[in-house]
Amino acid sequence: MDGQSPIRELKGVGEKTQKLFAKLDIHTVGDLLTFYPKDYETFQKPVGIAQAALGEVCAVYGCVWGILGEKRVRNLHVLNVKLSDGTGEIFVTFYNMPFLKKVLKKGGFYVFRGMVQSRGANKLMEQPKLFSLDDYRKIEGQLLPRYSLTKGLTNQALLKYMRQALTFYGFLPERYSGSMLERNGLISERAALEAIHFPSGREELLQARKRLVFDEFFSFLFMMRKSKDYGRQITSEYRIQETADTVRFLEQLPFPLTEAQKRVWQEIRGDMGSPYCMNRLVQGDVGSGKTIVAVLALLMTAANGYQGALMAPTEVLALQHFETVQGYVKKYGCSFRPVLLTGSMSAGEKREAYGRIASGEANLVIGTHALIQEKVQYHSLALVVTDEQHRFGVRQRERLAQKGAQPHILVMSATPIPRTLALILYGDLQISVIDELPADRLPIKNCVVNTSYRATAYRFIAKEVEQGRQVYVICPQVEGAEDAQDGFSGEGGAPMENVVDYTEKLKSVLPSHIQVAYLHGKMRPGDKKRIMEEFASHTVDVLVSTTVVEVGINVPNATVMMVENAERFGLAQLHQLRGRVGRGEHQSYCIFVSANEKEEAMERLKILKKSNDGFFIASEDLRLRGPGELLGVRQSGEFSFQIGDIYTDAAVLQQAAREAERILAEDPDLAQEENEALRRYMEAAAENAVDFRSI
Ligand code: ADP
Ligand code: MG
Repeated sequence: MDGQSPIRELKGVGEKTQKLFAKLDIHTVGDLLTFYPKDYETFQKPVGIAQAALGEVCAVYGCVWGILGEKRVRNLHVLNVKLSDGTGEIFVTFYNMPFLKKVLKKGGFYVFRGMVQSRGANKLMEQPKLFSLDDYRKIEGQLLPRYSLTKGLTNQALLKYMRQALTFYGFLPERYSGSMLERNGLISERAALEAIHFPSGREELLQARKRLVFDEFFSFLFMMRKSKDYGRQITSEYRIQETADTVRFLEQLPFPLTEAQKRVWQEIRGDMGSPYCMNRLVQGDVGSGKTIVAVLALLMTAANGYQGALMAPTEVLALQHFETVQGYVKKYGCSFRPVLLTGSMSAGEKREAYGRIASGEANLVIGTHALIQEKVQYHSLALVVTDEQHRFGVRQRERLAQKGAQPHILVMSATPIPRTLALILYGDLQISVIDELPADRLPIKNCVVNTSYRATAYRFIAKEVEQGRQVYVICPQVEGAEDAQDGFSGEGGAPMENVVDYTEKLKSVLPSHIQVAYLHGKMRPGDKKRIMEEFASHTVDVLVSTTVVEVGINVPNATVMMVENAERFGLAQLHQLRGRVGRGEHQSYCIFVSANEKEEAMERLKILKKSNDGFFIASEDLRLRGPGELLGVRQSGEFSFQIGDIYTDAAVLQQAAREAERILAEDPDLAQEENEALRRYMEAAAENAVDFRSI
């Protein structure tokens, strides 16, 4: 059995299970092995009820003092129990588990494990897991991996298949030389995969993770630096000069550019008019006005008679850019002839777009990844702008190069990356920074609250809507209990809100004339588009959404951003979400609702109140979480490393970069014997493009 073996080769995987795996994008045994747990549950020793800290998942060993009662609330069965252990008392509530009434004997002792909450002066656990003391002793101290699953596939079943896969997998010879393993303190790949899925303890898990993160970073950096154009100045066939079009456009804009925007625009003009291809990254915090700068570069390209392309990470964002540009054409008579190209367009629509692109009739192509696919033939593609897509790089550039001449490249990013890391990750890009927000912005007002504040928040939302404003509400999940069979998820143990149910709830608590709609990544593209349009045109007042709105959406009339389960998100991601409001003239507000009452969780969120500076926030987040922290949420996935996190794993990233440099200096073709296995691995990886999906 090897990485390419279809998942069906595992015993017990039939057609039905295969389909479930396919939903998780697991098709081969290799895919399964690299399907890493989203977090781990630790079964700690039971604590005395008096010591059980609010907001923490604890196990308590207590005596059932009494069944306090049961009731029905709509279709929900509620059972209330009181426990005591001599140090204190705690109330326990079970939902839809009527049979427990018979199981839980008055005077019986059990281990209850769940999140400790407060209700008035009392402690409360909702829906805890129940164990006999003997059963609990067996798992005490263990780390149980938890995977993001799909309905029909349980954690237990997955672990069974994982065990089988690890047992029968034919591991290739270790790819790194002994000295390289030693120098970097790395365990073998085999040991790492074993331990990431079946850790014997925290230390082993950290080592496993380090190895897998190193692999990911190293492969990426090695491939990037090895590409033939890395660090080479490419002669440009498109020397683009400024024309009256951009000057006129700037005069027509209702606002002047900020000094930072002017400086970056100057740098771009310099690059595009030079004899070499531009290769530039523009970093600027959310709301700093990157779009206008990109539009200027695209307009200049069009005015010189060439084509430009603007690539966005999601269809929603692509569409929005398309509409912005159409607006400019209408309002200012710009010389754009834009065309939209996204994966979900019908074959006919695509064909028409291809035609207009090939003939050169379209001079601006806006879309998603679809715009670099084989079928698209450009007439004279001179500039490619990518918005919020970090890993646009070697591969995509090569693909574009195959389509004709080398275009200028402009990468726009709102992710704050410290300069040392940016130099590693972007390597051969020039970096511009827009370090100034437009002056007319009112600072956003922030609050960090617990769930008891919701009623107040809803009243506030209703008031803002009455005044003509719009509101975003973000939930971490799409549908109820999709990957948490018990309704709980993650080490935090707090219940997670989901978009679908939350929308219903809001519809019932808000006045009925307020239009509430929802948006999430699993919706059909046509529906997403419709909802986004309705929100942009203000047919919808309140948009309940997953983080699909995180990047780039621009609806200046939206003034409230409410984030449920804020404790589940990285601060950098929350900062991005916050960037969706405060984009217009009205005072804007952010409400971060934490379902975790733990003090650290609240403290972490309060950093968002203290600062509006993305760099500061990312570095504080890192400081608080500490390197090597692996339980809990991921940073925004823009970098799309599967397991590595450029912030928390910054040290490993630097290590991997040093190794890549060293090997490229000593043995660039991996011809030496000690690098033989690495060469094989790299060749196969390049072929399968498994590790380099988005390079
Ligand atoms: P981001 O950098 O997050 O992509 P956008 O480009 O979407 O930000 O800009 C956010 C909002 O700010 C838009 O509505 C845009 O029209 C406006 N904007 C951009 N530049 C300026 C400026 N110099 N002065 C005032 N408003 C600006
Ligand atoms: Mg943007």
